[in-house]
Amino acid sequence: MRTVNAYAAPSATEPLVPTTIERRDVGPKDVLIAIRYAGICHSDIHTVRGDWGPITYPQVVGHEIVGEVVEVGSAVTKHAVGDRVGVGCMVNSCRECENCRAGMENYCLAGNTGTYAGTDRDGTITQGGYSTHVVVDEDFVLRVPAALDYAAAAPLLCAGITTYSPLAHWNAGPGKRVAVVGMGGLGHMAVKIAAAMGAEVTVLSRTLAKKDDGLAFGATDYYATDDDATFEALANRFDLIVNTVSAPLDLNLYLRLLRLDGTMVNVGAPPEPLPIQVFSLFNNRRSFAGSSIGSIAETQEMLDFCAEHGIAPETELIGADQINDAYERVLSSDVRYRFVIDTATL
Ligand code: NAP
Ligand code: ZN
Ligand code: ZN
Repeated sequence: MRTVNAYAAPSATEPLVPTTIERRDVGPKDVLIAIRYAGICHSDIHTVRGDWGPITYPQVVGHEIVGEVVEVGSAVTKHAVGDRVGVGCMVNSCRECENCRAGMENYCLAGNTGTYAGTDRDGTITQGGYSTHVVVDEDFVLRVPAALDYAAAAPLLCAGITTYSPLAHWNAGPGKRVAVVGMGGLGHMAVKIAAAMGAEVTVLSRTLAKKDDGLAFGATDYYATDDDATFEALANRFDLIVNTVSAPLDLNLYLRLLRLDGTMVNVGAPPEPLPIQVFSLFNNRRSFAGSSIGSIAETQEMLDFCAEHGIAPETELIGADQINDAYERVLSSDVRYRFVIDTATL
């Protein structure tokens, strides 16, 4: 065991505080990573505030991790000391179920082991990336291509893969009209990735305040959803709508924007149920779907895709003492477009 610096939530209602946590000894298949940067995902906030149900405190969150390998176990073959690597939202899975065998560990039927607030194989609660070091099984560690900026690579490990996976699965590409709802951390990556895939991209944001950014990220159109005329103008238009919004929306309004056989996929994760009128689906034989992060293989594919296409998140680098302020700014949508913690400040 080693004791490392971290930033933890003591409860659902108190600010995060500096602390120390224990990391396990490096087992034969483990790598020890010195974390350099950790992104702040809205899921971190949902989790520590108990939005998705009670958790055990103190809890360290963070699942957008990049750093260097500083030690490897005796049986490790995929990574070496000095490699620049990443860890995303999961650190293990059962490896035996139908979905794991199909290479989709993110959909492990036994539940994948979350990078934080999950139950690890030794029964302890996993602690995430707002810390200086982490020990992870090599199979759940990604290679971060040299072409990617170090700090900017971090948000790809969640915001990048969570948007890349549904865009790839539903064939975003030339000739496809894709709408992205909400342009925050996930949303701005969805715009960049869908545009790089060759799709025609429209942003649906509450206001036009971020329009110049959206167009610079590759969107061709940008509409305000607080203007009712938007829903008239865009009726029956899109092949795919990716909803990244962290709060409940009237989905029926958005479903009506799908053309024949179009799909709306929800990656935003508000805790509340979202009512759907079936008639919104009947017309145009529409589908409503969900999507959860991506597999390890797909995450590697996404990192390589972003390196090849020169895509990177827009980040604001912060010190550990700014984490609580950053949370408030994420909650008020005052982020352009992802906070990344410099772990040297922990
Ligand atoms: P974020 O940076 O806060 O972005 C969310 C965006 O949603 C905001 O920028 C805003 O966009 C819009 N929004 C926020 N509040 C709204 C409201 N009340 N009504 C309408 N629009 C609102 O969050 P994020 O980190 O991108 O995460 C987004 C959601 O995805 C969270 O719920 C998170 O937990 C979830 N998530 C899911 C997965 C998965 O695997 N499915 C993975 C990661 C995250 P505009 O200002 O442009 O309107
Ligand atoms: Zn996340
Ligand atoms: Zn499994």
